[in-house]
Amino acid sequence: MRLKKMKIGILGGGQLGKMLCLAAADWDLEIHILDPDPKCAARNYCTHFTEGSFKDYGTVVDFGRSVDMLTIEIEHVDEDALMALKQEGKIVHPSPESIFLIKDKGIQKILYKENGFPSSPFKYKEGDERLETFVMKNKINFPFVWKASRGGYDGKGVALVKTIEDLKQLPNVACIVEDFVDIEKEIAIIAVRNEKDEVVTYPAVEMLFDQKANLLDLQSCPADISHEIENQAKDLAIKLIRTYNICGLLAVEFFLTKQGTILVNEVAPRPHNSGHHTIEASETSQFQNHLRGILNTPLGSTKTRMPSVLLNLVGEEGYEGNALYVGMENALSIEGVHIHLYGKNTTKPWRKMGHVTTTADTIEDAMEKAMQVKSLLKVVC
Ligand code: ADP
Repeated sequence: MRLKKMKIGILGGGQLGKMLCLAAADWDLEIHILDPDPKCAARNYCTHFTEGSFKDYGTVVDFGRSVDMLTIEIEHVDEDALMALKQEGKIVHPSPESIFLIKDKGIQKILYKENGFPSSPFKYKEGDERLETFVMKNKINFPFVWKASRGGYDGKGVALVKTIEDLKQLPNVACIVEDFVDIEKEIAIIAVRNEKDEVVTYPAVEMLFDQKANLLDLQSCPADISHEIENQAKDLAIKLIRTYNICGLLAVEFFLTKQGTILVNEVAPRPHNSGHHTIEASETSQFQNHLRGILNTPLGSTKTRMPSVLLNLVGEEGYEGNALYVGMENALSIEGVHIHLYGKNTTKPWRKMGHVTTTADTIEDAMEKAMQVKSLLKVVC
């Protein structure tokens, strides 16, 4: 057991890092955070804080040498430094190899294709060839979906391209060009694995998106899908976590098509927005299970305690400045409302400032509470 006296380093101190620190506190673990922002969300909740870039080779190596094992809360880190640390004998989960295979969407898609995972057809533009030329040369039909291969998150770096005019607005970066999928539903499954190759999966969650910001707005668990689809998605998530050879969490996002098929959209080797409800609604939170996976302890039960809806608390349109939360008292007066504020000082339209999980005996009641909270609780300045 690695529970005693292990110094665990986390690359990244955003809200996921903060929630990992809170879970680690249950077992009195020593958590060291590396983040460029001295006011990051995790700053006040970790044992040690180091200010510096997790994208810089030397900084990551120095930080890694000061701890016993490393994990991440963001995949856009310098994996070469993690590779060097692993060679020096540090425990690194998820593995640097898997981070390399995941942080670039083009490389992710190639892995799906080579290993027979169902995913939408795509073309990968690596070099600095003009996008227009690439589209013409490959005879790609409109509409299609453009995705920056690196650095995108929460729908930033994704665009639906319907015309040549849309295409001209896009930056000329490495990207994938993907067939447009007629999506019936989007779901996600989180898998957890330890070094003994034990794997568990959480029940599927269903995601509902705000079209305007392309940012996850509401999410419900259980998902309104058949057992057959849920089991197919779970099998794919288990195969993926083993293919990547990941210890800790792997979140897998899927599209269910109007034709009834299931496609892998993308994966993330860390705690994920689609698992926040597990803090209140599951036997074991995703954060504790990530720690169990990387510490190689028995994995925690992923059983659902009660139906839940997750609402992302995003900055209100028209407000940019020091964050102010209005409607907290009214929202807190509703039973089963669990508010999580990430502690970001400044708000701007659509910035993820926190989340709220509502729990109830039925999913309908949890949804009603979430809609009430949505109209009551606002992030302004
Ligand atoms: P991010 O990494 O920023 O979350 P995603 O790849 O998940 O980006 O895409 C964001 C959203 O865009 C998806 O949740 C989905 O709603 C839509 N989308 C992505 N790919 C496609 C596609 N091939 N066809 C249709 N819609 C898509």
